[in-house]
Amino acid sequence: MYRKLVLFDIDGTLLKVGAMNRRVLADALLEVYGTEGSTDTHDFSGKMDSAIIYEVLTNGGLGKEEIAGKFDQAKAAYIALFRERAQPSDITLLEGVRELLDALSSRSDILLGLLTGNFEASGRHKLKLPGIDHYFPFGAFADDALDRNELPRIAHERARSITGKNFSSSEIVIIGDTEHDIRCAKALDARSIAVATGNFSMQELSRHQPGALFQNFAKTGEVITEILTPQLS
Ligand SMILES: [Mg+2]
Repeated sequence: MYRKLVLFDIDGTLLKVGAMNRRVLADALLEVYGTEGSTDTHDFSGKMDSAIIYEVLTNGGLGKEEIAGKFDQAKAAYIALFRERAQPSDITLLEGVRELLDALSSRSDILLGLLTGNFEASGRHKLKLPGIDHYFPFGAFADDALDRNELPRIAHERARSITGKNFSSSEIVIIGDTEHDIRCAKALDARSIAVATGNFSMQELSRHQPGALFQNFAKTGEVITEILTPQLS
């Protein structure tokens, strides 16, 4: 019987991707729009891939309709280039992640899923390279909505259709490395667990009042205890 639905962010939480990701997006946008906009300097943390494309091209002077007109083409170009170029050496699995996923997936009372701003195809590819894709039977992705705060509801619905269980807010845990992930949990009244392995420090993350906060996932047992802790709101 499932007790918890645990939804993981990808970048900065499970793994880090080298500089190639930014280059891939820049090249895909150059190919489709003739400009990479502000890709080189833009802050990607915690944002949806779709929103990033709009933001960097808007900064490059393109109008919303112009961006929308070729959006599907740009998305396809980015995914194709990412799959073509990404090598296992471009991905760094973060400390304790494999042990944590092993421990969580061996429990019959926990359902694992993804809640990420990645497009599904490129996000799944990032997970396949270090061999952790199989831990996640389902997820909610940038393909599903424009607003990240919509994703918890979508993940919740998918979890229900897979298990037949309607998880209550207090049974849902959202794990990520940015304030966006914490806010996402609040949108569903779920528990958030923040981890400082991305671009934000413990101090910065604590300002957004996550349910629990870790430097990294080295201590598997402590993370699992926090996952199983009842949500106090
Ligand atoms: Mg992240």
